[in-house]
Amino acid sequence: MDYNVFFDRALGQLHDERRYRVFADLERLAGRYPHAIWHSPEGPRDVVIWCSNDYLGMAQHPKVVGAMVETAARMGTGAGGTRNIAGTNHPLIELERELATLHGKEASLVFTSGYVSNETGISTIAKLLPNCLLLSDALNHNSMIEGVRKSGTEKQVWRHNDVAHLEQLLRAADPDRPKLILCESLYSMDGDVAPLHKICDLAERYGALTYVDEVHAVGMYGPHGGGISERDGATARIDILEGTLAKAFGCLGGYIAANANLIDAVRSYAPGFIFTTALPPAVCAAATAAIRHLKSSQWERDRHQDRAARLKSVLNAARLPVMPSDTHIVPLHVGDPEKCKMACDLLLSDYGIYIQPINYPTVPRGLERLRITPSPYHDDALIDRLAEALVDVWDQLMLPRQSQVLAAE
Ligand SMILES: *Cc1c(COP(=O)(O)O)cnc(C)c1O
Repeated sequence: MDYNVFFDRALGQLHDERRYRVFADLERLAGRYPHAIWHSPEGPRDVVIWCSNDYLGMAQHPKVVGAMVETAARMGTGAGGTRNIAGTNHPLIELERELATLHGKEASLVFTSGYVSNETGISTIAKLLPNCLLLSDALNHNSMIEGVRKSGTEKQVWRHNDVAHLEQLLRAADPDRPKLILCESLYSMDGDVAPLHKICDLAERYGALTYVDEVHAVGMYGPHGGGISERDGATARIDILEGTLAKAFGCLGGYIAANANLIDAVRSYAPGFIFTTALPPAVCAAATAAIRHLKSSQWERDRHQDRAARLKSVLNAARLPVMPSDTHIVPLHVGDPEKCKMACDLLLSDYGIYIQPINYPTVPRGLERLRITPSPYHDDALIDRLAEALVDVWDQLMLPRQSQVLAAE
């Protein structure tokens, strides 16, 4: 049998649907963020990155890099095994303490990624609750969906951020049945925010647990970087907070924070925690350095919000179709997968600007977009250059500007 036929066919289908993904060959430059080198087919070129989830540039912060280098030199690279076999390396203990404190919870548990923390965290918690009903927001991330699927328990999907719909589902459910409400605090494609207090009101009224993915908010919101839950004063009302160390904290890894019993149960039952090697000590120490820095430094958060506001206003002034967003995410509507890809190719090849196209299935068809994420290090000149490049590209591809978009509706 020619097995390659199957792989060819699968790839062909992605090409046909214009969903085949190409990853740029980039070399980030510590100390020069957001500048990077793009290893283009014609050789290395300088580019500016405009779509990184290293939202605050912490991946190049001297304190974070310093902690990683110092710890690797002192303790070596790998963790040496699962925590059961190798014990827990001390920097990981400190990291978990730091995370518990950050979220005002009794305990936290670190996983090898945010993806794993959702997948194995949600499925394990749901399995430990007999006949659990999972109530999941319609726009939850794939890692949460996989956690729900792996739990094998019943799920109901509520319309995105629609608390009336959530209440309808809660009211219809058996009052004695365990329930777990799953949502994100900040949705990263539209940049909108969940009504956390209203969700917690319902959870309390109907006796449900709450699980909130704060991946796109930790480090960036709240006076200490505790996320939208901290900003909104809702932390104590949320049972389980999940976050990543890989976005605003600039490292790698994911975690959940909750009461000590729940964390101990997940530690004891979650296969995605038990059967895999722990994070290296140097990564843990670097993450702790980033969390500690952002706990006390307000500069990155203020500047981040200022840059996002500035970018939105410059793009709006240029009548580019900025989609409304309450946060640091700046989505620019394209509405066509091919043009979305072409716009990104032109930006990179002709202007040295790197932005990834966001197409189906990440967003619904017709809502294809550029997702722009300004950092504290994108200055006024870079913003102006981006706006000029976008206007050129919009003209070349005959994409609608704002007044035309409005007129067409
Ligand atoms: C990126 C992301 C994750 C996964 O986090 P990683 O640390 O990158 O694995 C989880 N949830 C959401 C909403 C995300 O965007």
